Amino acid sequence: MGNSRLTIVNVRLPLADERLYYTLRAEGGRWTEVAAQDGYLERSEPYAPFDAEGAVRAECLDAEGKVALPGFADVHMHLDKAFSLPKVGNVSGTLGEAIANYAASAGTFSKEEILSRIMKTALQAVSYGTSAIRTHLDFHAAAGRRVALQSVEAALEAKERLAPYLELQIFPMFSYRSSTASDVELFEEALRMGVTGVGGAPHIADEPERNIDLIFSLAEKFDRPIDLHTDETDDPEMKTVLYIADKTTASGYGGRVTVDHLCSLASMPPAEAASVIARMAEAKLSAVTLPAANLYLQGRGDSAAVRRGVTRVKELAAAGIPIATASDNVHDPFHPFGRGDMLQIALITAYGAHMGAPSDLRLLLRMATEIPASIMGLRGYGIAAGNAADLVLLDAVTPDELFTKLPDRRWIYRAGRWLKFAPPEAGWEVPELGEQWTAYRRYGL
Ligand SMILES: [Zn+2]
Repeated sequence: MGNSRLTIVNVRLPLADERLYYTLRAEGGRWTEVAAQDGYLERSEPYAPFDAEGAVRAECLDAEGKVALPGFADVHMHLDKAFSLPKVGNVSGTLGEAIANYAASAGTFSKEEILSRIMKTALQAVSYGTSAIRTHLDFHAAAGRRVALQSVEAALEAKERLAPYLELQIFPMFSYRSSTASDVELFEEALRMGVTGVGGAPHIADEPERNIDLIFSLAEKFDRPIDLHTDETDDPEMKTVLYIADKTTASGYGGRVTVDHLCSLASMPPAEAASVIARMAEAKLSAVTLPAANLYLQGRGDSAAVRRGVTRVKELAAAGIPIATASDNVHDPFHPFGRGDMLQIALITAYGAHMGAPSDLRLLLRMATEIPASIMGLRGYGIAAGNAADLVLLDAVTPDELFTKLPDRRWIYRAGRWLKFAPPEAGWEVPELGEQWTAYRRYGL
């Protein structure tokens, strides 16, 4: 990092004003200037274009009108489970079978295997431009202390190793079965180890309200945020989100609670959904849609007019609720596809939520960057003077082109350097910052 300097001209910033070209200057890993240009600058010394291989060779780059975004923020992944599909199948393709099969296998994985999955998947996401991930973690208290805590240990180790490239937040999921004093004590141990917040899936608990009460008491005791899988079902009667909203207000936790999936909201009649959304807004909940997983998992019980399972994205946004989109599962029994690419997820969100107008595309880009960054409480995020020079430059010149091309060519600038990606066989070892590093662009099973 040190005194590294970078100047880029002719960049488009769709999160600012996509009609303008900008000049960006960074020094020592921070933006020092972000200025709108008076039109497109014809190339002149010392600005160099990308070379024949598309690589950046100079400190002064002419971006030729390409789009830049701050690093993507993926606020909901399951890095500990990613790429486990060859070991844990799902014949029916339902959420129920995925949960049951994974829980039954949880005791068979080693800590090293979980660490390897986390590193591989996170680095792959970095290679697509992601700079922050919130991972949920399975926490199988019923399988015993070793099984429950080894995922936490693996995630904490990965967080440290990934720190130069990625901010990793860790949310173990308080078990929907946990209710004994020793289960709660075990979760407290995870919180003392340094995980970021409290996750869970209370809608599948035998006693959802009691499960939510325990989650809130753990979060309050350790002063941590909450992020919950919520009402991930086609059943319009399921509204645990209302109890979460009430608890949030009663605990003074507004702005620190995120509810994810919200599939039942999509099945409700519009007036009923509107009243639930109004209660969510009052309680200052944040929301996350996971369209890839839910398009795949939901609607399995429908034989006609099959529901899509994607929550009411536009209505939630219109109500002023911060709503992000995120990857969820990657190649595991919950979702067999995915690659940790937030641009691909933004496109799937566009299909799932009927979003294609120019204003929709801008919102989708914000749902993959600024909005999840604010949900995650990231400091100094965004392309602005004083912030960390965290940038993904994409091979497209407009938002429309981003969504139609899903450009594979991306240039990632982080911590004062352009990242370089070696082929998969180079492995996922992360060298110390300052050396050339390697990352998976593809996974090898
Ligand atoms: Zn999830």
